Amino acid sequence: MAIFHEAIIIGGGPAGLTAGIYLMRAGIDALLLEKVILGGAPVNTWHIENYPGFPEGISGRELMERFAAHAKAFNLNIKEFARVEEVSQNGNKFILKTDEDIYEAKGIIVATGTESSKIGIPGEDRFIGRGISYCATCDGMFFKNLEVAVIGGGDAAVEEGLSLANIAKKVYVIHRRDNLRAQKILQERAFKNPKMEFLWNKRPIEFQGKDQIESIVLEDTKTGEHTDLKIDGVFVYVGSRPDVGFLGNLVDKDEAGFILTDENLATKTKGIFVAGDVRKKRLRQVSTAVGDGALAAVELERFILETR
Ligand code: NAP
Repeated sequence: MAIFHEAIIIGGGPAGLTAGIYLMRAGIDALLLEKVILGGAPVNTWHIENYPGFPEGISGRELMERFAAHAKAFNLNIKEFARVEEVSQNGNKFILKTDEDIYEAKGIIVATGTESSKIGIPGEDRFIGRGISYCATCDGMFFKNLEVAVIGGGDAAVEEGLSLANIAKKVYVIHRRDNLRAQKILQERAFKNPKMEFLWNKRPIEFQGKDQIESIVLEDTKTGEHTDLKIDGVFVYVGSRPDVGFLGNLVDKDEAGFILTDENLATKTKGIFVAGDVRKKRLRQVSTAVGDGALAAVELERFILETR
């Protein structure tokens, strides 16, 4: 027997939780399905200082706990560990299948964010959890007074590298070019930090070690020269990608898999709206996810009321 809610939000990060708050306040019967636990990507962020209202900054985990508490205060129905495997349409209803249940909804908001990309080089899979991590907030403490490397040149690499510098003895930042993609304020802090050393124009080509990672083989992108860098741990921040195969052909995507929406966050299928990092957009931050969540909820509310 399918479980019916007027609106179903897929994804419990900042976009999904904001959408939940707005829908519940609008009197829409909404359910949020989260494949793991609430919070989304910010939970893996040590310190957020560009979310308005927190001039001293706040840990990503705490900020998301506040979002979740806010959504629960408005009685949003939430089911964690519910991974949506397939969405289809039957007349004017959407059918959502998770590994346990079948749900029906009049409209949905997709707020599934992105997943960390792997580099895809030899040794990566073997050393995950044995010195290779994708989350400094989760695993940084294991590297107290040790030497670690961060791979990537974006906001995540530099920001998490700065956090790691509070714990580790040394943080190498390995970047394949000679200038960073990260925001200027983060770059300036990192360049000033005595524990951080930048290895420019270096591409990791293999992770090596016995039971634990011990070194990275680096290739110089200008000269082709290979060097070995001895390290105790590696944090990979080479971007992230959306995983929206469960939507089949109900939405259009760009070449990287991000969902295309119009300015009101609608997709080509009436009743499916999209919010947050999973959508094709220029700026992926908590503040923009919140704006998306609010707009998607208001648009879905309008859609549902038209068909009530
Ligand atoms: P990103 O901005 O896509 O940066 C990924 C980095 O990894 C780039 O520097 C890229 O190099 C490098 N890279 C990609 N593939 C690689 C490979 N195979 N080998 C080596 N290096 C590789 O990803 P992100 O830093 O995870 O950030 C994702 C989104 O979240 C961004 O929109 C970002 O602004 C946002 N974010 C914001 C904050 C904040 O505002 N505080 C914090 C974290 C994330 P190239 O530069 O050469 O392409």
